[in-house]
Amino acid sequence: MKVRFGTAGIPLSCKGGSLEGIQCVRDMGLDAFEFEFVHGAKMGLGLAAECGKTAREAGVSLSAHGPYYVNLISEDAEKARASVERILQTARILSAAGGGRAVFHPGYYGKKGADAAYKEMKKRFREIVEKIAAEKLNAVLAPETTGGAAEFGSLQELISLSREFGTNRVNLTIDFAHVHCREGKGWVKEKKDYAKIFYEVEKRLGKQGVQNFHSHFTGVRFTEKGEKNHLAIDSDSPPFKPLAELLAEQGYAGTIISESPTIEADALAMKRIYEKSSGLR
Ligand SMILES: [Zn+2]
Repeated sequence: MKVRFGTAGIPLSCKGGSLEGIQCVRDMGLDAFEFEFVHGAKMGLGLAAECGKTAREAGVSLSAHGPYYVNLISEDAEKARASVERILQTARILSAAGGGRAVFHPGYYGKKGADAAYKEMKKRFREIVEKIAAEKLNAVLAPETTGGAAEFGSLQELISLSREFGTNRVNLTIDFAHVHCREGKGWVKEKKDYAKIFYEVEKRLGKQGVQNFHSHFTGVRFTEKGEKNHLAIDSDSPPFKPLAELLAEQGYAGTIISESPTIEADALAMKRIYEKSSGLR
């Protein structure tokens, strides 16, 4: 049981595309890579398969972040349909690369109340889950906890969706910075705050939820409306060290993708802090 550390997309110091990025991540001593399809999932399936082969040989686990332009519960039926397709396209590429978590931001409440939004979201998720099964894709839907009060995706909402479909089909991405700043609270400060997050996950998703979690980490600046911009890990907003200590103490296992502005330097910094906490160093 251990925690993998990786980068959101190609490390800043690496030249080339995703294929080179995966090799580069491995050479640095990291072991996870998240494809960044945030501006469109356009990678060819042949290249995806090559990336998958390289990742397997390098011992690097893969995930994919789908396009930002997604609102599964848009009032506009065409936008909702296009959103389903964007997530499916992310899943197809990821599946060609050997599978993993397909990460995305599910959408916006709009004029809907939280309950109505959840019901509609569940319908959309069912549709995507069925298409993934029909196309025999190897991808787990991994909706990400969101940072803005207007965005669907509280920790509880995403745990509920994961429980509803089973974690082999839907398993949330915990974006710690987003959980920290959602609704402008900035409440994640100590080990007990992280423990609360993992407690909720384990209580409702079981061991599976904390033994194979997928997450994003970065420092974050925020207002009462939510996330403003990303900061380096040493901003301590939220602090990483208490999380590392909790993971080490509890033996939780999973993946932490660095979304810091200094992506790979902070992925490595987090790895070092975690290893120190685990007594691995
Ligand atoms: Zn994201």
